[in-house]
Amino acid sequence: MVGVVPRRPHRDAVSRAAPPPGGRRAGCAAGRPRGRRPARGAGRVTATHHPAPVPEPVADAVRAFAADADGAPAARLVALDFDGTLSPLVDDPLTARMAPSARAAVDRLAAALVGTTTRLALVSGRNLADLAERSEPPVGTYLVGSHGAETGHVTEDGLDAVPLDLTPEQADHLAALRAGMADAVAGREGAWVQEKPSAAVLHTRLASAADTQAAEDLADAVAERLGLHAMHGKDVVEVAVVETSKGEAVDRLRDVVGQDAGCPDARTRVLYAGDDTTDETAFAVLGPGDLGVKVGDGDTLAEQRVPDADGLAAVLDLLADLLERREG
Ligand SMILES: [Mg+2]
Repeated sequence: MVGVVPRRPHRDAVSRAAPPPGGRRAGCAAGRPRGRRPARGAGRVTATHHPAPVPEPVADAVRAFAADADGAPAARLVALDFDGTLSPLVDDPLTARMAPSARAAVDRLAAALVGTTTRLALVSGRNLADLAERSEPPVGTYLVGSHGAETGHVTEDGLDAVPLDLTPEQADHLAALRAGMADAVAGREGAWVQEKPSAAVLHTRLASAADTQAAEDLADAVAERLGLHAMHGKDVVEVAVVETSKGEAVDRLRDVVGQDAGCPDARTRVLYAGDDTTDETAFAVLGPGDLGVKVGDGDTLAEQRVPDADGLAAVLDLLADLLERREG
């Protein structure tokens, strides 16, 4: 169970921003233009980085996302994966941090969203507490951890987390899964198992090719024996006892954000960015008015692509520009 995480080192990200300009419109006439708490203090966030240029096709897609379709306002959700998307991949997952450009762009975007009908979310395979710790999300950010099994919302008072409750059967499966995964890495240098509240994850980034193959085969066998699905990502195999996906999480967030933004009747439009195979389930639920951005190489259902976190930071900067202009 994930409790409230009191840490909120970036709670000031929003408060560092200038107050929204007077007359900022919230967008959905039918809803309460329920602005979140107005930003305190003065002085806009000063980004010290120089954004990479956004390729024109990507920029066009971002402009289309920022514009109201047919003049009909709708809530928007900017949902971003963390590892490999905002944060460069590292050997030790505990040392992951957003790239400086991404950090600045996320904070700036969060500040630009205050008082609007657009919300920010981080959607990760990490467990929720770990995601909050590593990503230092701005106040107002929705968090999805464990590929959708855990959810939370960053408030002024810290992380408001929805507790994860396993059924007795899921708890039994989790115990058997952890034992089986531990066997899979026994004696294999560089391979290790991360225990999450609803899953076990095999990590092989530092293991030899032979050990990786052997450990993955054993992990797959454990999953099959327990009737669970094994998700293969970059140097990881994750087996969860709660059946969910980032795509399901994004669909649920659409509704949550629509309600929160006061636009319950219009389909919330989603910009989703991610780098890995597990993000494809999120790209798969995107439709008209949405925008998928793949970060890095590899096959994808996303319509646009940027090379790395710096490229995504430039996309977020452009989106902040556009939203500030329309709301200003
Ligand atoms: Mg990723």
